Amino acid sequence: MEELSGTKISKEILQELKQEVESLATQNIHPCLAVILVGDDPASAIYVKNKKKKCDQLGIKSVETVLPQDTTQEELLKVIDKYNEDPTVHGILCQVPLPPQCDEEQVIRRIKGQKDVDCFNPCNVGLLAAGTPRYMPCTPYGILQILKRSGHDTKGKCCVVLGRSNIVGRPLSIMMSLKGWDATVTLCHSKTSNLEKVCMRADILVAAIGIPHFVKKEHVKQGAIVIDVGINRIDDPTSKKGFKLVGDVDYENISDVAHAATPVPGGVGPMTITMLMYNTINAARLQSNLPKFEI
Ligand code: NDP
Repeated sequence: MEELSGTKISKEILQELKQEVESLATQNIHPCLAVILVGDDPASAIYVKNKKKKCDQLGIKSVETVLPQDTTQEELLKVIDKYNEDPTVHGILCQVPLPPQCDEEQVIRRIKGQKDVDCFNPCNVGLLAAGTPRYMPCTPYGILQILKRSGHDTKGKCCVVLGRSNIVGRPLSIMMSLKGWDATVTLCHSKTSNLEKVCMRADILVAAIGIPHFVKKEHVKQGAIVIDVGINRIDDPTSKKGFKLVGDVDYENISDVAHAATPVPGGVGPMTITMLMYNTINAARLQSNLPKFEI
């Protein structure tokens, strides 16, 4: 079974993005991402730190607002408004989860469509569904880049997506069915009947459900491409941290049937942040009336 390395593909894309940032600098355009972190969730703090590090690596400017756990909705919306109005800020991202007194939906809607580099705002989701995307949601576009750059065309293929979340499964199913990607898509969820049978039809099977090692060889057609989006913590007394990260796919179990699969870690994970950088560059281009930078 071929390993589809997101680590390798993301490095390749980051190189292209770095060159684009340098080229924009010669036109006096300096992409800038604003990141808002509310509260003291340690995992969120790590995600924010990694995003800043990636921006630094590419020469993208980043600004950050860290707010306390007891921040009110109004205080948070004020910070978003400030970045919405700041012409030097091109992309805005509010790290989730938010504390319970903050309404995630309202926060997402408050970020201006042009600055919504996560592509969560319903106006951008609508544009995507209409086939005229402004931005591509990061994890789904990362998956499509893995497929494209490893030579696995989606055109005419039967694609089965497990999980219908707003951040992965549903947008991915829409994108795969758009002109250009041209797949025939089935979107599955916890109420899908005969799941194994449905999965067995897939030329490309994507698992985004959050259940460790759920996908076994009983779900995989001979020669299928399997994309594992899951990032699940399971206990591992042999590891220093006491846990390890595993995907939604039992990689070893499917290895004699699948043609290729993404590993966890090192598969879809590194692509998500790379696509965030891509969207930030395109936000700067869009706000400077330049056409999209295609990758
Ligand atoms: P959610 O956790 O929000 O939702 C899970 C989805 O899986 C739901 O649609 C649910 O169905 C479906 N589901 C649950 N059980 C089953 C089942 N037995 N059979 C079929 N479908 C089922 O999804 P996310 O997309 O947020 O996360 C999924 C996984 O991807 C997680 O492990 C997460 O950590 C990871 N992830 C990884 C990213 C990356 O960068 N690599 C980015 C984002 C997420 P229903 O709607 O009916 O409840």
